[in-house]
Amino acid sequence: MSLLERNGLPVRPSRELGESLPGYLYRLYNANGHPVPTEIHASLSLLYSNAALDQREAAAAQLSAVAGELSDADWPRWRTWHGWLKQSYAWLRFCPLCLRENQLHQSIWELPLVTACPIHQTQLVEECECGRKLGWRWSSADWNCRCGKAFCEIDAPDAAQGTVVLARLISACSSVERGGRWPYAWRLPKEFHDLSLEALYAEIEFLHQLECKLHRHLGGIGVTKFPSASVGMLLARWPRNLDAYLQGWLERYFAKDHGSGIVRLGRNMPLIKLQTSFSSPLSAKAEPNISRQYLARFVDRIRLPVHGPGVYLIDSALLKQLDAAWLHEFYALTERSSHLHSPQAGKPSGADSRQATVMRQVIARFVAYAVTKQSFNTGLRRTARIWPALPEHSGTSLLEWLAHLIGPLHEASHTHLCYLREMLDSVQH
Ligand SMILES: [Zn+2]
Ligand SMILES: [Zn+2]
Repeated sequence: MSLLERNGLPVRPSRELGESLPGYLYRLYNANGHPVPTEIHASLSLLYSNAALDQREAAAAQLSAVAGELSDADWPRWRTWHGWLKQSYAWLRFCPLCLRENQLHQSIWELPLVTACPIHQTQLVEECECGRKLGWRWSSADWNCRCGKAFCEIDAPDAAQGTVVLARLISACSSVERGGRWPYAWRLPKEFHDLSLEALYAEIEFLHQLECKLHRHLGGIGVTKFPSASVGMLLARWPRNLDAYLQGWLERYFAKDHGSGIVRLGRNMPLIKLQTSFSSPLSAKAEPNISRQYLARFVDRIRLPVHGPGVYLIDSALLKQLDAAWLHEFYALTERSSHLHSPQAGKPSGADSRQATVMRQVIARFVAYAVTKQSFNTGLRRTARIWPALPEHSGTSLLEWLAHLIGPLHEASHTHLCYLREMLDSVQH
């Protein structure tokens, strides 16, 4: 009887739900008192390799002659997209606590980015305490290292929270594919409940790319080459963590703008560029892409963290029209006011202080204008920094903006308007 056929093995334990293919074969041969034959190791290596499809199919056929029918989940699909998205047969990793409970090697541990146990929240073990990296070929048949240490006795440190989130999501989405469910206690975001594993990996890749690109705009280094715990944290408490991350990024990005108070929300702004230009084949493949949709909504309702007087400018063509219209209104107003108003001397102090507030707002707008025209006068910029922020305004039509910017001028005194005009002329010429 051949050891490479199911009939050749008198003891045939059935394969458990979620058990990995190598894990099952290992257990099967162990139950029959044999080490895993070299041919089986070779076929497993081939199945998990980059070999041509027909070779991998031949390997799968040989393995199913021993293990019984293989499922889709046994087929390592994650090869072609990205460096991190791959499975390998060479090394094995496991949760010692899970192994202690049922002696089964879980297929979830083989999936890319699963480095924590979703149940015990500990790191998966890849190395024995004797320092050996654990490979399938060199582990003895009853889950022992060559040094004699039992796998289930190896100490597993606590996992980073982000890696637990990733492991739980991946576990959940792979169980969706197998018609399974996951513990309610995991509290996974409901948006992700019905995602296929493939779509989940696409989300992870999208968020990883987002992190890398946004980080680069801050001139930072330190984003990992492959998705890591930080992506898990972005997915946690969905979408609050992602929202906080994007807000934090905006704060840091515009903090570089040294109080000029002017922020241009043009097409060149990295976040907007990213939102429109993301076109990874992965993201295109997976519909709907939850993270991309969230990013689009975030960009739509963006509120810029400007500390100091400022205008929120949406687009540079609009900005030009706005400049011209503002100037026109302003000069018209200074000419009208010369015979409509007289300086408001002798008013009660309450009105004076109101006037002073309005004046500050007007000058803040003036400063904003001057800076927009890129007349970067140091004095003006310093002044801009100490004045309070303009009231927030979210209108986007030209008329709305103009009313917003010109309104306070109507309340300014003739003297103030003349002063403004002088300042304006000095900046213009
Ligand atoms: Zn575990
Ligand atoms: Zn060892």
